[in-house]
Amino acid sequence: MALSIFQFLLFSISNFFLASSFQDLLLLSVNAQSHNLTQPSVTPINFDLYHSSGNLMEEIRALVHRHPDKLTMETIKAGNKGYGAEVSVVTYCKEKKDNDERSKLRILLSFGQHGRELITTELALRILSILSEEKFLPSMDQASLNSALDKLVIKVVPMENLNGRKVVEAGDLCERRNGRGVDLNRNWSVDWGKKEKDYDPYEENPGIAPFSEPESQIMRKLAISFEPNLWVNVHSGMEALFMPYDHKNTTPDGLPLQRMKSLLEEVKHLHCQERCMIGSGGGSVGYFAHGTATDFMYDIVGVPMAFTFEIYGDGTASSRDCFKMFNPTDLATYNVCCFDSARIAPFHPSVSYSFTLKSFFF
Ligand SMILES: [Zn+2]
Repeated sequence: MALSIFQFLLFSISNFFLASSFQDLLLLSVNAQSHNLTQPSVTPINFDLYHSSGNLMEEIRALVHRHPDKLTMETIKAGNKGYGAEVSVVTYCKEKKDNDERSKLRILLSFGQHGRELITTELALRILSILSEEKFLPSMDQASLNSALDKLVIKVVPMENLNGRKVVEAGDLCERRNGRGVDLNRNWSVDWGKKEKDYDPYEENPGIAPFSEPESQIMRKLAISFEPNLWVNVHSGMEALFMPYDHKNTTPDGLPLQRMKSLLEEVKHLHCQERCMIGSGGGSVGYFAHGTATDFMYDIVGVPMAFTFEIYGDGTASSRDCFKMFNPTDLATYNVCCFDSARIAPFHPSVSYSFTLKSFFF
């Protein structure tokens, strides 16, 4: 049985939490000892659990360097009006030959499009570590995984919004936009610039024009040249698996809908129980988002399977407490997380899956 990339993706985050649980226990014990102290209302970034952007990219560079047979990395730069950005892209492809990319399934994964969603970039590193076989999925049949991976080319953008991430690390924990205040998930051309009644520029500034931002220009170019079969834009803030459209309360119809919906339902059933919302972004999230990457990937690039996965959210956190709202902070948070260890069981290779990438494309 083949392992789908979705199982792989979601399993990886569970694995991250497990690896972090020891630190969580330490933190809980410290908290228990100081329970009579006033708790800070804003949770700082926990650098015992999370990498800084510099350390994360350095680890990824070193990882790629150790595995030239599987991984390559390029850093693409662009800029305008005195603002520059760079986006690093890691490509996983075994046994590279001429034109090999075209004969395989092509997957494009982006992480860290919003600066404050640190957990997503940790997941990117974890996935790359597993692809390089430096880390392993517990109880996973490596042969099954390898045979699935033989058929794939995976491009991973571990940190789409490096400049915004640096703003977060400098103390603005609620910043989601890029280094000059534009939301990179509102800067794409499908239904760009439309503003809802509750429009908040701090959250959703779409920029002065579609693709005004260097980061979005780089991502557009990458997607158009790579022509992925599958796109996942990985975010945090809630537990949800979205398909197009974000800008209206409808989904595509016919076969494309059936493909995407079936897959999301399967992933929901296996990994989220009933906690994850699925459906169109616009129809499920409670607001319309205009000018998003996933709508562009589906409508303009023609990616047949285009998704936004929201992998974690703490609905109890105060709206000021952004690190806690968007990122797991401790064991208690881990326990309410959608992708906790209790839900790992369905990933076991002894369980057969009715939906895999293979079933869609071969
Ligand atoms: Zn986000």
